[in-house]
Amino acid sequence: MYDLIIIGGGPAGYAGAIKAAQCGMKVALIEKNLLGGTCLNRGCIPTKALLHYASLFESAKSLSSIGISVGKVDFDFDKMHQCKNEVVSTLRNGVSQLLKANRVDLFEGSARIKDAHTVICNEQEFNTANILIATGSVPAMPPIVGSDKAVSSDDLLEKSSLFFNRLAIVGGGVIGVEMASIYRALGAEVTIFEAMERILPMMDREISQSLNMVLKKRGISIFCNAKVERLESDSPLTLSYLHKDTPMSIEVDGILICTGRKPNIEGLFCDGFSLEMNRRSIWVDEHYCTSEKGVYAVGDVNGLMPLAHAAEAQALAAVAYMQNKQPDIDPTLVPSCVYTDPEIACVGLTTDEAKAKQIPVRTGKYVMGSNSKTVIEGKERSFIKLVFHADTNELLGAQLFCAHATDMIAELTTAISNHLSSSDLLRALRPHPTFVEAITEAVEAAHGQSIHTMPTRR
Ligand code: FAD
Repeated sequence: MYDLIIIGGGPAGYAGAIKAAQCGMKVALIEKNLLGGTCLNRGCIPTKALLHYASLFESAKSLSSIGISVGKVDFDFDKMHQCKNEVVSTLRNGVSQLLKANRVDLFEGSARIKDAHTVICNEQEFNTANILIATGSVPAMPPIVGSDKAVSSDDLLEKSSLFFNRLAIVGGGVIGVEMASIYRALGAEVTIFEAMERILPMMDREISQSLNMVLKKRGISIFCNAKVERLESDSPLTLSYLHKDTPMSIEVDGILICTGRKPNIEGLFCDGFSLEMNRRSIWVDEHYCTSEKGVYAVGDVNGLMPLAHAAEAQALAAVAYMQNKQPDIDPTLVPSCVYTDPEIACVGLTTDEAKAKQIPVRTGKYVMGSNSKTVIEGKERSFIKLVFHADTNELLGAQLFCAHATDMIAELTTAISNHLSSSDLLRALRPHPTFVEAITEAVEAAHGQSIHTMPTRR
């Protein structure tokens, strides 16, 4: 008899398993594929590895501008994939060792839930006090005629043979813009099709408009308000679309569809067992408990926030709730990052969201043009926006569009979760020269007191 059986060994599943074992629970983890889930094998890690290699290639090409010559710069996509696979397997071995060291029983196989206290795997029944569903998500293909001719992010990240000289990307969300950045840096012609009025439609408008500009400047074609209708013939492929109601088409060598993902629940429930759903996701309450007492669902499968660190935080919180404890972590304040160049990172409220909630705010924006590190590294247009409560000066949100944004957002997340105000943020000295100095500037800008930026003419 287990205290907890976890189904799925992604960031939610393995983090939950280790935490529960450390709290003294007898834990089993069942994984049907590879430990690390989407994040480690088909998501966060492989994309960031390829982005890193592609950006090194791009930087190497421009070294002559600072007087460094390295001869002809070329790349080998197979080798890049090999390096990426080595990174993935190093990290996967780390997860496996952690599970072993924490005495989590690991089973390989597909799990099915018979009832709230019974899980079946490899024809064997296991009894448990609690079940944690952490089965993640899989790519969802939209109903586009001929979509079987396209590939998903899973395919693209797995096979180095899928290098397309002309790549169309359907979906201008996070995965779309990251993939576009990889392929464009390696010299491919890339076209993004986005059905909404802008790429990254769920992010701060100024950030998505700025990224649109930067990507276009790098030679990526972007069509917003574009409805992809049909994919035809094999080589080359033709993609037909409606752009602002005008029928158009282009020929490409490959098409990536990344318009969304769906919860992975296929075959998870035995006949006679079901859970309440919220559209396609498993419904959960504020303790991540499903409609069945003792059965919890965390990570992508509950559809709340499809990010790896959110999945992990939810799992840690669910394990605490199972033991009638309060979690140490707040899984509801989730920073979200996009690993383009410049990077993007947001947390908390934007000015527009605050206004919609009728919260009075004061926003400080600092354009990084005079930040020393930004100038040294020759970075493009970048900025930081901080949103403060107009009365209390508490930090409510941050939107970053700059180098190292994905690391800098941690300080601002800590500040928001601890209700820090602008004076709390100003008390701390930030080292020089660094990108984080810009945080001081943005706080000061919110209060009209910057000592490093030009005063606005009165
Ligand atoms: P998953 O990681 O999907 O893991 C679920 C596991 O459950 C899988 O291993 C699966 O095999 C297993 N499983 C499913 N059903 C069963 C069953 N019946 N029995 C046994 N095992 C089962 N997020 C970020 O935070 N940062 C990023 O930079 C980022 N980049 C991404 C890039 C791409 C291309 C993609 C696709 C996603 C990215 N994400 C990123 C999202 C992130 O990968 C997911 O949010 C995260 O992996 C969700 O974790 P999870 O544990 O809920 O599910």
